Amino acid sequence: MKLLFYLTISIGISLNGHGQNLTIKGKAKDQSKKNSEQSKPIKHTALLKVGDSLILKKNTTEANEMKLVNPIDIKANHWNTTTFNAYKNTKPKFPIKLEFSDSSYSSPIARNKVITSRFGWRNGRGHNGIDIDLITGDSIFSMFSGVVRFARYSTGYGKTIVIRHYNGLETVYAHLSKYTVKPNDTVKYGQHIGYGGMSGNARGSHLHLGIYYNGIAIHPEYLFEFSKTNKIRAQEIWVTDKWTHSYLHNHKKQSTLNLFTTKEEALKSYKNRKKTYIVKRGDTLSKIALKNNIPITTICKTNYIKSSSILKIGQKLIIE
Ligand SMILES: [Zn+2]
Repeated sequence: MKLLFYLTISIGISLNGHGQNLTIKGKAKDQSKKNSEQSKPIKHTALLKVGDSLILKKNTTEANEMKLVNPIDIKANHWNTTTFNAYKNTKPKFPIKLEFSDSSYSSPIARNKVITSRFGWRNGRGHNGIDIDLITGDSIFSMFSGVVRFARYSTGYGKTIVIRHYNGLETVYAHLSKYTVKPNDTVKYGQHIGYGGMSGNARGSHLHLGIYYNGIAIHPEYLFEFSKTNKIRAQEIWVTDKWTHSYLHNHKKQSTLNLFTTKEEALKSYKNRKKTYIVKRGDTLSKIALKNNIPITTICKTNYIKSSSILKIGQKLIIE
């Protein structure tokens, strides 16, 4: 019995490879190593030069975009290739539900993302996106697949690309030096769309990245982690208006994140939320304190102002 078993094995070997078993085995191993290297995502370390075109492949993404419960017909509504905001006079209903079919976005730049200015109040006005450091000529990539809605010069933002995606979100890439796509072009996840720079009103080269839904700017860090992982914080995210008002955030400080992944959580947050008071003509801190039944010191503390600060008409104060 033992002998028979032995015999079968040795016949098997000799039929198989005529003594070349080892070589074959070696090749197979090399092949599998090669395959696994090929399937690894391309690392964003190489610096690309003008003229390079690169598509970062992610096998699953295209199919995934279609997996959204209700992917939008991108060009069906408010499709305007000449205006930065195609949704003028439309008001989204809060909380906004956003769905993602993937767990990570494609990084818009090929280097470490260093945020130099966040979404928030800056020099007396709103900064409706985040600034990511780069060197002029660095390649810019689309964060998701979609269709280019806008690729032209916009006051302040300079050369700007707006891409609309299948979940209704729009990503904005500003202060570019060059475009490699044009309006109505279909782009893939990670597709090369242009080169970074400092066109428009930019102090130094950087990418101004904006995230919009129905023309409303959303705090990019509420949705995405700007780290090496390129993580989308959840597959379903509910956005309250808190994450769309720049005056509720500080452009130098990361806001405390409390992510809502269900409608219930988002609605609950409205119950114990802070009120905003808009300063009117003739208002003083004491008048506002009296009207809202809170001490002046509390208003000063929450709004980072002094009791001697001069209020401006239209200024927004948080009332707790
Ligand atoms: Zn900016």
